[in-house]
Amino acid sequence: MGAAMSDEILLRTSDMPWINFGAGIDYKILRTSAETGAWTVLFRCAKGSSFAPHRHYGAGEYFMFKGAMEYRMGGAKAGDYGYEPLGVFHEHTEFIEDSELWFTNYGPIAFVNPDGSVAMLLDWKFFADQQAAAQGAAASRKAA
Ligand code: ZN
Repeated sequence: MGAAMSDEILLRTSDMPWINFGAGIDYKILRTSAETGAWTVLFRCAKGSSFAPHRHYGAGEYFMFKGAMEYRMGGAKAGDYGYEPLGVFHEHTEFIEDSELWFTNYGPIAFVNPDGSVAMLLDWKFFADQQAAAQGAAASRKAA
C-alpha cells in the first residue's frame, strides 16, 4: 500500500537500515515528494569520503549531527546548519571525520563530468525508487 504524499509521517530512523550510496557514504530516506520534488535523507559519511562535483538544481539545507565536512563555504561541524541556494556549485565536499547529517533538497542535484555535462541526476525519484525497492525486499523477506 503506497502512502499519499500528504500523509503524516513519524519514522524511527534508528530502526531503519542504511543504504549504500557510494564509497563511504550511506543514507536513510526520510521523505520524498512527487509534488514538489523535495527529498529528505540522513547521510552517514565516513572520514575521507566525499561528494563529487555537483550543482544544486534546487535549494537545499542541512544540519550536521556528528562529525565535520569541508566544502565551498568552509568547515561545518556537529551542530552547524547550512543553506544551499538554487544553482550553487560544489566542486568538492569532503568529510574529514565520520559524519552524519540531515539533508533536504528542494529539487535535483546534478553530479557533473569534468566537461560540465550531467553525469547523474540525484532527485526525489531516485530515492523514491530506492525506497520502493527496499520495501519490496523487506516484504519478500517477511513472506519467505
Ligand atoms: Zn552540495
